[in-house]
Amino acid sequence: MASILTFCMGTRSSIPRSGLELLAVARSLSQQLGSVPVQALFLGLGVREHAPALIHHGADQVLLADHPCLERPEDEVVLGITEEVVRQLAPRVVLLPHDELFGGHVGPRLAYRLKAGIVTDCTGFAVQNGDIRWLRPVYGGKAMAYMCARGLLQVATIRSRAFEPLPADALRTGEIQEIPIPEAFSTSVTVVERVEAAEERGLSLDRAEIIVSGGRGMGSAEGFSILHELARVLGAAVGGSRPAADMGWVPHSHLVGQTGKIVAPKLYIAVGISGATQHMAGAGSSKTIVAINKDPDAPIFKLAHIGVVGEWEKVVPPLIRSFQEMRS
Ligand SMILES: Cc1cc2nc3c(=O)[nH]c(=O)nc-3n(C[C@H](O)[C@H](O)[C@H](O)COP(=O)(O)OP(=O)(O)OC[C@H]3O[C@@H](n4cnc5c(N)ncnc54)[C@H](O)[C@@H]3O)c2cc1C
Repeated sequence: MASILTFCMGTRSSIPRSGLELLAVARSLSQQLGSVPVQALFLGLGVREHAPALIHHGADQVLLADHPCLERPEDEVVLGITEEVVRQLAPRVVLLPHDELFGGHVGPRLAYRLKAGIVTDCTGFAVQNGDIRWLRPVYGGKAMAYMCARGLLQVATIRSRAFEPLPADALRTGEIQEIPIPEAFSTSVTVVERVEAAEERGLSLDRAEIIVSGGRGMGSAEGFSILHELARVLGAAVGGSRPAADMGWVPHSHLVGQTGKIVAPKLYIAVGISGATQHMAGAGSSKTIVAINKDPDAPIFKLAHIGVVGEWEKVVPPLIRSFQEMRS
C-alpha cells in the first residue's frame, strides 16, 4: 500500500521537533485514510542512535541516511537523495517541514520534478471521501483556505508548531533500514568557503519557545537593545517587524511576517508593534501573544491574549527586573 513519507534532518545531539510533528500528522492521516504505513526518511550525520525515537513517535519504518555529505547539507544534495527515495518508494503523500531547506528549496523543486501537486505552509487537514484537503492561511493570514493537490503523489509542507508531536511510546516497534548514499554524491554546487553570518549566531527563531519582537515603536537601535536584555532573562530569541529590520535594529533573517519568518512559539512578546496583517501572518499562530503598545487602539490588541497599554520605556524595565528576581 502506498505510504505516507515524512522527512527529518537530525543532528548528532537531537531530532528536531518538526520531524516529530510530521509523524503526528502522518499517523492521524494514516488512521483517516485506512491504516496507511508511515515511513520516515531520517537524514544527517551521526544520527543513527536517534532513529528508534522516530518509531516511538509514530513511524512504522525509518529509512536512515547517515552520511558525511549530510553534516551541513546543501539543497541539491538533500533534493537529490529525496527525489531518489521518493521515486523508489512511490508514496502517496510526502510531508516536509515548512522550513527554509524543505519548505523553501526542496519541496517545490521535488514536486516539479515528480509532477506532483504541492500545498505549502499547511496548518491543518481534513479527509473527505479519501481525498485530503489541506488547510493553509491565505491573503497574508486574513483567511484560511482548504486546498487539494491533484495527482497520484502529493507533497505538503507543514507549518512549524501547527501540530503537537505524539507522546513517545517506547513499546512501539518498527523497522530501521539504512539507505546507501553514493560516496561522491553528485551536485553542480561546489562549496568554496563557509562564512557564518554574525546574525545567525544566538537562538534561532525557528527553535525558540519564546520570542521577544520589537517594532518601529522602539524608536532606535539603542531602544531596541533593551529587548535583547529581556530576551536574555527569558532565554528567548529576538525578532522584529519590517521597519525594525529595515532600520537595521534586527537582522533581516529575524524579520517576522509574511515576507519573513513564520513562527509559532509558546510565547510571543510584541513590543512597539502595531500588529499589521503582514506581521501577524508570521506571528499569529503563537500560542500566547503579549502586546506592549502605547496606543490602546493598536490592531495588535485584537489578536493579543494579554495586552499592556503603555510606553515600553515604563513597562519593559520593571518586567526585566521581575523576571530577574523570579530567576534568582
Ligand atoms: C507586501 C508587504 C509585505 C510585508 N511584509 C511584512 C512582514 O513580513 N513583516 C512585517 O512586520 N511587516 C511587513 N510589512 C509591513 C507592514 O504592513 C507594516 O507596515 C509593519 O508591520 C509595521 O511595523 P511596526 O508595527 O513595527 O510599525 P508601526 O505600524 O509604525 O507601529 C509602531 C507601533 O509602535 C507603537 N509605539 C510607538 N512608540 C511606543 C512606545 N514608546 N511604547 C510602546 N509602543 C509604542 C505605536 O503605537 C504603533 O502601534 C509588509 C508590507 C507589505 C505591503
